[in-house]
Parts: sequence; structure tokens; C-alpha cells
Amino acid sequence: MHRGSCLCGKICYEYRGEIDEVSMYHCRQCRKAQGTAFAVAPIRSAGFRITQGAQYLKEFRATPSKARVFCSECGSPLYSARDDRPEAKRLRLGTLDTPISPSKCYHAWVSTQAEWFEITDGLPKFPEFAR
Ligand SMILES: [Zn+2]
Repeated sequence: MHRGSCLCGKICYEYRGEIDEVSMYHCRQCRKAQGTAFAVAPIRSAGFRITQGAQYLKEFRATPSKARVFCSECGSPLYSARDDRPEAKRLRLGTLDTPISPSKCYHAWVSTQAEWFEITDGLPKFPEFAR
């Protein structure tokens, strides 16, 4: 069981399941949405539940079919979800309050990564989506 929350603490969530894979997406849209080159992890929607503050959730759609969900009070990005893939969400890992030990970490969309960010961790890098 994992727990997380936004910066102001009004929104809390839980996730029943393993977070074993960490995808660091470097695409321009993700950088804009996070304000940095940031990490997200694919999770199954089935184990994800908002436990507090659902009324503070707000979403923005840069792409019509994809919601980027954040706290309307403090602005913390929480997850993204695509209409055509209701079984999956991409959790913003910085909002987790419990530790994880992922075994599969990689960088995706490095073809469009920020010129000021050098990847030196030796993890797999993919020009676009990971394969
Ligand atoms: Zn908040």
C-alpha cells in the first residue's frame, strides 16, 4: 500500500499495488506541466483511490484525450490519465509519502530533453516512448 498527497495536504491518495517501473519523461509537454524534467510511473487505475480532498482536483487538457490532474489549491501535479486507457494512470512520483524500490527505471523522449539537463545515471534511454 502506497500513500501520497499534494503540497498543501488537502488531497490524499492511496495506491494498492507495486510501483516497480519508473519512467522519466523528457518530452516538452511533460516538462511544461511539471516545471522540470520529471519522473512519472505507470500504474493501474484499479488500485488508485483519492482518500481525501477530491473536491480540490482540477484537470487541464493540453491534448484533448489526456487529463493532467492537479490540486487546485497548491498546484501540485498528481497524475495524468488518458480517456482511451482508463486502466492506467501516470502518477507523479514526487507526491508519494511512502518509499518505493523500483527495479525498472529509464528515460523516455530524450530526443526532446532539456539542453540544461545531463543524464548521467547510466539508465536506459529511449528517443521517444520506451520499448
Ligand atoms: Zn494541494
